[in-house]
Amino acid sequence: MATLLDGKKLSQKICSTLKSKVEKLKDKKPGLAVILVGDHSASQIYVAKKEKTAREFGFYSEVHKLPSACEEKEILNLIKYLNESPKIHGILVQLPLPAHIQTHAILNAVSPLKDVDGFHPLNLGRLFIGDPLFIPCTPQGVMELFKEYKIELSGKHAVVIGRSLIVGKPLAHLLLGQNATVTICHSKTKNLEAVCQTADILISAIGKPLFIKNSFVKEGAVVVDVGINRLNNKIVGDVDFENVQKKASFITPVPGGVGPMTIALLLQNTFKSFERFSS
Ligand code: NAD
Repeated sequence: MATLLDGKKLSQKICSTLKSKVEKLKDKKPGLAVILVGDHSASQIYVAKKEKTAREFGFYSEVHKLPSACEEKEILNLIKYLNESPKIHGILVQLPLPAHIQTHAILNAVSPLKDVDGFHPLNLGRLFIGDPLFIPCTPQGVMELFKEYKIELSGKHAVVIGRSLIVGKPLAHLLLGQNATVTICHSKTKNLEAVCQTADILISAIGKPLFIKNSFVKEGAVVVDVGINRLNNKIVGDVDFENVQKKASFITPVPGGVGPMTIALLLQNTFKSFERFSS
């Protein structure tokens, strides 16, 4: 039976360390601003969770809600204001944005120095050349789990399923940086199951409930499930956890795996930004 990669426990450890650092601060607090456009139901839940956790650990937090019909200019004006606000050290634009808004234009407007999600092209570029300023929170959370559980990456074959800018692509670069041999798979990959069977480290970021079956997994592989899906009113990952845990050496649960790590790393990035602005 696989050992759990317990993201809930590790995220609490990271957040408690941050809390004790924040408590020692005299007047200023690290500040996080979240922009939510529209009424996407999952996004509302994610934003509420981020705000609650930020406050719980002593951060200053602002949530800016804009209607889905708002114009791009309104979002850009808000970002300009937040870029200049001395109370704010991290700005996060919750994705996805409504279809009439150009996501790239919005992400490009966030100051790279406050881009705690790491999605600004400058920050993605810095990550890709191996000199990161902000690393996207979800991939960073996955890497922290590997570190905590002393999972050797050097020389291992890591298969990442999903090529989004939020998860798959940055994660592949982080794995490469740790000398893994990386294969990125996506919706057009042929023989996905056969490719996955060669993975020492298998990471799924697809968004399809229980898609990764036991037959995809090599005996003793490390399996990380980034997916968050709703199935019969329950949150499940991309991985058929019940069966795959019998074959894997390590596995992340959903919920309680990568999800809480993402929020912990968001706060950690905000704290680092605060320190940079304060120094
Ligand atoms: P996305 O839709 O941008 O990307 C999905 C990727 O999966 C694409 O690259 C696509 O090519 C690939 N894909 C789709 N169907 C496939 C198939 N049949 N075979 C192989 N590849 C396939 O999604 P995303 O934003 O990267 O998110 C992926 C999942 O991770 C979602 O479930 C999302 O909710 C979850 N997520 C979780 C966290 C977290 O904190 N745990 C953070 C971000 C995203």
